[in-house]
Amino acid sequence: MKIRKEAGVDCGLEVDEKELAGINAMSRKTLTAEEVYAFAVKLCDNRVDRDGERFPVATLEELAELFVGKSGIFDHQWSARGQTARIYRTEVVREGELTEAGEPYAYLKGYAYLLRTEGNRDLIAEIEGGIKKEVSVGCSVERAVCSVCGQDIHTCPHEKGERYEGKLCWAELVCATDAYEWSFVAVPAQRDAGVMKSMRQDMEKLEREAALGRKYLERLRGEVVRLGGLAGLGLEHAVLEAIVKKLEEPELDELRAAFEKQADRAWGAECQLRRGGEGKEEDRDGAFLI
Ligand SMILES: [Zn+2]
Repeated sequence: MKIRKEAGVDCGLEVDEKELAGINAMSRKTLTAEEVYAFAVKLCDNRVDRDGERFPVATLEELAELFVGKSGIFDHQWSARGQTARIYRTEVVREGELTEAGEPYAYLKGYAYLLRTEGNRDLIAEIEGGIKKEVSVGCSVERAVCSVCGQDIHTCPHEKGERYEGKLCWAELVCATDAYEWSFVAVPAQRDAGVMKSMRQDMEKLEREAALGRKYLERLRGEVVRLGGLAGLGLEHAVLEAIVKKLEEPELDELRAAFEKQADRAWGAECQLRRGGEGKEEDRDGAFLI
């Protein structure tokens, strides 16, 4: 079964000889300390998470081996430009304090590197600035075991997050078989900013379209008033204007067609000539005033 979890970026690392040796074991060409940027990420831990699942330390140890050499991708903005970081070593860090599962707290730490290229400069600045903090991991485990009865969580009668005689039920993710990805996801503040930005663009687009629509309708109303005058219906200019003001596009189109026909009948070829003269406003107004 495939598992996806979120954790965080730890910190930038000093690339000493030991780190550089680890990086060069992964790299096709031999890199110098100046050519690489290394940082640590917290990939996953052994706490019961939001999904009511956890990785026991034994699974973290298995994942530690599986994540070495795996490339991490960044969110859309970066991955589109092909930015990737690679994990060159991992370790399970134990911190002593007991968790609700009765195991000392432990997490899987990944050490990753990026090339210090012009294209990666902004990304490195973001990691350094603590902006890109969340890391999401994808892996596979063989089984999810119920903490209450020890059976498969999918078939046993217990529900994750419920208590049975005081004992909390969660799933133990055991026997890791693959670590297929890790990726950076934008932190919430960034995500909001992104949403705000695209919403603003959408609003501007709608407003632009609305403005164009209003302009078109105004022109159409003016045209109908003009043709109404030409049609010789004996209606006052002001009355025609008051009428068309209340009409929308479909009615205006109908009225324009009807007035046009009537105007053609009333004025014949002369009118058509005048209407054919594009951009001669005085001529049209003059015709209307007759
Ligand atoms: Zn159970």
